[in-house]
Amino acid sequence: MLIEILEMEETKAKFILRDTTPAKANALRRALLSDIPKMAIDKVEFHLGSIDVDGKDFESVTPLFDEIIAHRLGMVPVPTDLDLFNFQKDCVCGGEGCPNCTIMYSLNKNGPCTVYSGDLEPLGSPDFRVKDEHIPIVELSDGQSVLIYAHAVMGTAKEHVKWQVANGVGYKYMPAVTVKSSANAKEVAASCPRKVFDIDGKDLIAARPLDCILCNSCVEVDGGKSVSVQGDDKNFVFSFETDGSLTAEKALMKAADLLSEKTKAFAESISDITA
Ligand SMILES: [Zn+2]
Repeated sequence: MLIEILEMEETKAKFILRDTTPAKANALRRALLSDIPKMAIDKVEFHLGSIDVDGKDFESVTPLFDEIIAHRLGMVPVPTDLDLFNFQKDCVCGGEGCPNCTIMYSLNKNGPCTVYSGDLEPLGSPDFRVKDEHIPIVELSDGQSVLIYAHAVMGTAKEHVKWQVANGVGYKYMPAVTVKSSANAKEVAASCPRKVFDIDGKDLIAARPLDCILCNSCVEVDGGKSVSVQGDDKNFVFSFETDGSLTAEKALMKAADLLSEKTKAFAESISDITA
């Protein structure tokens, strides 16, 4: 299996997966969706009662139930360094929580204001400030406040979607678009919803074959006299995005590593049976 990168942005990737099978492409899709670990807020402590700020009394109440605020905080993408953090269950602290497995945040705001994800202050390294600072959490009116301590821990999307790194993960068979005749060039070019074709003089040219979605609209124009379109089931155009907790490159590398580890473990367990 070879990966040929077409686009690699901070949180977005598009690549060609070469010389493989639909099963392996799907295994990579599933690894990206549910196996990559990341940090997410899993425990939230709410300060209850009144808070005195410069002589003014604030009540630690909000218009939303605490559970909703906790849920919204859980869904905020938390920057994750996979070399730095362990799963809490595997950590030297025995699961109590320590800097190797937990990021602590404080959230302290007084109304009237809107509380945003960017108001989460990491206790410790500023590297763990959330990158997407504009996710609204709750709106406070005058006299209302929140004082919250939140614990982010490592998990995977198999437990909860808040630990899902990649989204919009999908692939298509690599399109092979062949022009056979330019007799109906205008009609064929106009029929394509993805504007795959250009017309050069009178010639029909498949200028952007990777944009083809195999819808066969161009083939239907004249029953396939001008163009043939086929999906190659050994090569795939693959794309996905991340929520920002990991870069697209790191997510892809981790998914490939996890897939490789899994297949090795599976091969070993098979050889144990046959031995
Ligand atoms: Zn720990």
